[in-house]
Amino acid sequence: MRKPVVAGNWKMNGTQASVTALTNGVLTGVRSAPKVEVWVCPPYVYLSQVANALKGSAIKLGAQDLSDRAPGAYTGDICAEMLKDVGCHGVIIGHSERRAYHGETDAVVARKMVAAHAKGLIPMVCIGETREERENGSTEAVIGRQLDALMDADGGMRALQAAVIAYEPVWAIGTGLTASPEQAQAVHAFIRTRIATRNSALAAKIQILYGGSVKPDNAGELFAMDDIDGGLIGGASLKDSDFLAICEAANSRG
Ligand code: PEP
Repeated sequence: MRKPVVAGNWKMNGTQASVTALTNGVLTGVRSAPKVEVWVCPPYVYLSQVANALKGSAIKLGAQDLSDRAPGAYTGDICAEMLKDVGCHGVIIGHSERRAYHGETDAVVARKMVAAHAKGLIPMVCIGETREERENGSTEAVIGRQLDALMDADGGMRALQAAVIAYEPVWAIGTGLTASPEQAQAVHAFIRTRIATRNSALAAKIQILYGGSVKPDNAGELFAMDDIDGGLIGGASLKDSDFLAICEAANSRG
């Protein structure tokens, strides 16, 4: 049985004060969802602050990105060693906003996954098709290509043993449009089948989250699907009561 995961991606939001309030809100409520692994992923500059607040709790700390390089002369970048040093458990990799606004290719995403895993971080790797790709019928081709890049990378299959996949249709992120449970399930099943072509045990055990406008009122029906093992939550993770309600929906599945 795969343990459900619910991760809050706070993106580029917050102040020291609001991050403290949100963290405390999540900490207070999350005890009612013991069967779920809960992550919060604040901006880099608040990671230490949140790490201190989370000490002694079961909530995991995640970053939103990392460099694929070793420490050195890379102005503005943050490497896996630093994320470990400040207490991160994992890191989101390949979010569609990184792919779109920072030109991250499938190859870069794969290298980041391997770099994260090499330093003991859990990679949460995002894949997903754009609206145009869905409409022209290439969803499976795109997802297949993104997955193959991960599996073909040097060290990729090893890193995937520890990874979590987040299927995030780009057209559903922050738009209020959500994939129907059936649409999401179909892609999740496709992902598992694709991984099974290389390693069937890994395909059976890997957690595959859905992301894209998950809210308290649609989380239950999404998480009820066989291959959906929780969610990566953007907008709704910024409100503790909404995020906790989503955790609770995943808890009922767990
Ligand atoms: C995301 O950005 O990962 C995401 C799923 O955002 P939202 O929940 O706001 O669609």
